[in-house]
Amino acid sequence: MQVVKELAGEISNYNRKTKINVPKCFVCMDSGVILYKEKTDFGYIAEYAAKCTCQAGHQYRSLISITEVMDIEKIAKQNFAAWYKNNKDKNGFKDVMKKLKGA
Ligand SMILES: [Zn+2]
Repeated sequence: MQVVKELAGEISNYNRKTKINVPKCFVCMDSGVILYKEKTDFGYIAEYAAKCTCQAGHQYRSLISITEVMDIEKIAKQNFAAWYKNNKDKNGFKDVMKKLKGA
C-alpha cells in the first residue's frame, strides 16, 4: 500500500533526524534501576528491582546492588545491542560510535 510506504518513509526520515541519545550507563540506561525476575521460595516468578552501580543508582540506597544478583556485563551487552539496533540508521551514528570507541 502506497500510504503505508509513505508513512514508513516518513518515520525512517524522522528517525534519521532524531538526535542520538547515548546513555552514560548501558547497564541501567541511566534510570539507576534494573528490574530482574527471580523464582521465589513459593515457586512463582516475581519481579524485583536492583540499583545500578553508576551515579544514577546512588539515589536508590535501599535496593540491593545489581552486581549481587546479575551479571552486569551481560546486561550491558544486551542493552548495547538493542541501542545499536535502534540507532544505527540515524544520521551521525558513525561519529557517535567513533566517540564511544575513543572514550
Ligand atoms: Zn547505571
